[in-house]
Formats: sequence, structure tokens, C-alpha cells
Amino acid sequence: MTAPRKDWARCEGERIARRFGWTTLPVDPFAIARSEDITVSPLPEADKGVSGVFHIRGHDAFIFYRETPRQPGRERFSVAHELGHFFLEGHPAMIADQGGRHESRAGSFLQRQPIEVEADHFAAGLLMPTAPLRTFLADAPVGLEAIKRLRQKAKVSISAAAITYAQQADHPVAIIVSKGQRIQYAFQSPGLRALGRLIHPRKDDPLPAGATSHFNSDPSNVAVARQVCGATTAQIWFDGGGALPLDEEVLGLGTSGATLTVLSSEDLPRGDPDDSDDEDDDQPWSPTFR
Ligand SMILES: [Zn+2]
Repeated sequence: MTAPRKDWARCEGERIARRFGWTTLPVDPFAIARSEDITVSPLPEADKGVSGVFHIRGHDAFIFYRETPRQPGRERFSVAHELGHFFLEGHPAMIADQGGRHESRAGSFLQRQPIEVEADHFAAGLLMPTAPLRTFLADAPVGLEAIKRLRQKAKVSISAAAITYAQQADHPVAIIVSKGQRIQYAFQSPGLRALGRLIHPRKDDPLPAGATSHFNSDPSNVAVARQVCGATTAQIWFDGGGALPLDEEVLGLGTSGATLTVLSSEDLPRGDPDDSDDEDDDQPWSPTFR
């Protein structure tokens, strides 16, 4: 199985947004589908476990998405993901070869197919293209508030906004998603990596003592999407981190049962993102995206 082409897929998403005239946030994936005469409809209730379907029949393409009226960001990401299967070179032919129907499943990140990873990165590029994203980030505050504003501005899920923010921010920032007392995944911003080599926690590592661990010890905090803020230091979270003080902002993600933690400091300089490497490249996009 060939490795997914993540950067290429993200660039293609950005290029398609530009081609259809979407140069500011939010980008509307439904409108792009209409422009290409792709029929977009909600999934029938019976298709449980499926977050979206791309169907190709001759010259006709169809997208079905899971309706989540209270979480419009998830619907939009799902439609953008399926658009990836339409626009990314090689995807339509592969799906046509497999009978013309492709099902996308939320949470199936074990042995995810390369086309699934590519479609996720396409969707992120389409919904949050670099140019308007950088314009937004230039004026945004640091930390959780920036993520909440990006969610509103780009009309995406909080997880999509958080991951994209962590991948693009020049400020030193890390995001950690946890469930119970275990880490699900973590990302460091280019600005944080530029400060030195910090090794962040990995999937299934225990949460360190502090605001997030305390927050998660009461599941109702997560369920009702409470938000708290604590103080921590880099060495509590990272191997190689020193006594650097950091804000620890914590937000319950509701019915997903997950918690978002944002570590940042307003007092640190912006790093030079060109110094960063890309060690998170294996991290799945989708466990909480769709
Ligand atoms: Zn898919």
C-alpha cells in the first residue's frame, strides 16, 4: 500500500477552493459540489456507522453525508472529505474500479486507507486554505480562544480547528486530546518546536497530574462542555521541557467523551516555523473529525 500524499492532498484542497473563488473563510463545500453538478443528500438513517458516501456512476457523482444539525462543522467536513474523492487524481478511478461506491467511516483510523487520509487532508485544505488562515491567525489571540474563533470563522468542528491551529500557529502552542486519564493524540505548533526539541505524550500515555486530569475525573465536566484554566510547566507535559510556565486551558468536547487541552503562553516569542520538522505526520486526522 503506498503512503498517503498528505501535503499534496492539502494543496489540492486549497487549489479547488481558489478555483471556485473561495478566498476568505468560511468556504462552502456544498456550493462547490453544486458548481460541479454533484448531487448532495443526507444519508438514510439506516446507514449507521457511515459518516459519508461517495458514489460515482458514469459521469454522475453523488455525495451522501450524515446529518448533524447541531454540529454543522462535522457535516461540512464530511462533504469536503467526499469532494476529495471527486477531485483528487486517482480517487474516482479507484472508486469506480471498486464498484463505484465508497463509504467513509468515522473513527476507523486503524489501517486507514491512503485515500481516506488524503481525503481528510484535502478537506482541511479546502475548508481552511493557508492564505485566509494566516490572515486570521495574525490577529487572533493565543490559545483556546483562537481555536474557538477559528471554529466560528471557518465553520468547522472544534477538533478540526484545534488540529489546524496547532499545525499552523507561529506561537508556541500544543493541543492534547484525551479521554478519561489517557491521551488520544497531541500536536505541537511549528512555533513550539522551534523553541527546542520537546517530546510530547503519545496515544494511551496517562495524563500528567494537573487541570486536565482533575477535569476528566468528573465525566460530567466533559459531557456539559465545561471549560477551566490551570497553570502548568513544559516539563510536566514534555520530555525535554524545562520549567517554562504554560497556561493549561481545558474544554470538554461533549458527547464525544473527549477533552481538548491547549497549552500556550502569551509571554513566549513567536518561533520561526521554518525550523520545525514534521514528526506528527502519522497522526490520524479523523478520530474526532467526523
Ligand atoms: Zn472517504
